[in-house]
Amino acid sequence: MTKTISLLGATGSVGQSTLELIRKHPGKFEVRALTAFSRVAELAALALEFNANLAVIGDETKLTELKERLQGSGIEVAAGEQGLLEAAAYPSDMVLAAIVGAAGLRPTLTAVRRGATIALANKECLVCAGDLMMKELEAHNSTLLPVDSEHNAIFQVFDADHAQTVSRLILTASGGPFLNRELTELKNITPALAVAHPNWDMGAKISVDSATMMNKGLEVIEAYHLFPVDKEQIDVLVHPQSVIHSMVEYIDGSTLAQLGSPDMVVPIASCLAWPDRISTPAKKLNLAEIGQLTFQEPDYDKFRCLALAKEALYIGGAATTVLNAANEVAVDAFLKENIPFLAVPELVSRTLEKSDMKAPHSLTNVFEIDQEARRLASSFLDVYAK
Ligand code: NAD
Ligand code: MG
Repeated sequence: MTKTISLLGATGSVGQSTLELIRKHPGKFEVRALTAFSRVAELAALALEFNANLAVIGDETKLTELKERLQGSGIEVAAGEQGLLEAAAYPSDMVLAAIVGAAGLRPTLTAVRRGATIALANKECLVCAGDLMMKELEAHNSTLLPVDSEHNAIFQVFDADHAQTVSRLILTASGGPFLNRELTELKNITPALAVAHPNWDMGAKISVDSATMMNKGLEVIEAYHLFPVDKEQIDVLVHPQSVIHSMVEYIDGSTLAQLGSPDMVVPIASCLAWPDRISTPAKKLNLAEIGQLTFQEPDYDKFRCLALAKEALYIGGAATTVLNAANEVAVDAFLKENIPFLAVPELVSRTLEKSDMKAPHSLTNVFEIDQEARRLASSFLDVYAK
């Protein structure tokens, strides 16, 4: 049977890996809607290649160009936030949510509300609005499949029918490009160094998050929402080879892990084909060649972002929404070389300190909290300016 797929964030790193898999399995998947933010030529080419029904460009100023490029093809076009929502609402079996940042929230929720199966790559959905999102999923009987490699690993080995027998989730972390650098050496880190991840090839924002280890912090928050465990039951373990993608420990002392090459096509394929499996071009694991797998505790003093994210999860309420917004502002400023690398945790911490932590009661409220935190974080940028 053919599965129909809509892909939000088709031009990104996860989007491209998804399309690579769809290309390799002709007849298994049909593409319905594709979205991108500004790369209009690429979006149009993909829409034609995959014979999509709808192509949506986030940046409204590019709509005319999209129309011109797709003229005569019969492919519908749309733009802006309304267009992104249309893409999410367009009938399909599965929506792969791979837009980066809080911009992914509304489109993902739209897909949830029509009961689609959601393959979730976008982290910010659960970090900003985890409680609301999980409630909506349940209310609309929508299935959530985690794309992120750690959560996908846990999903594959978590015995959901006997959740009470799980004692711990162990999220592995590569430690990023600065694992073995001293804190003092991190002062002069440039964006180019920060985005050069040793194991994974990813978009710029998540690469910086991996370098600060905020990424692992966001993943702890996501894991809390995705799996029925308490906050204290989620641990982080540094594992520089990125071979074990995460583990589930059971009360009897058994620990189950999912292993594989560090290639996003593996967890993406697991979601696309679920509950079946499909082949991928990922390099098969050769443990004899790898020889050694090593592990260490994370250094919370060096990677303050990880500590801040855990703290936000414990505080609850609006804290994780604020954390995410402040981090997006900080990472953007760092990538533009406006603030130094070590200012990222400073800015996040300061924004958390000055924010109200009352829990969001609606998605509109999540956006209000998000906007207020962005405003606050931006107002602190001058303090850290280079
Ligand atoms: P990316 O930057 O490579 O791609 C992002 C995509 O979102 C692009 O298609 C872009 O056009 C679109 N986009 C950006 N801003 C937008 C906006 N305002 N409105 C609409 N569309 C917009 O990012 P990525 O690395 O593919 O990551 C996508 C998401 O998946 C992120 O939330 C990331 O944290 C998560 N994720 C990525 C990886 C990975 O290996 N890349 C792994 C796990 C989770
Ligand atoms: Mg991950």
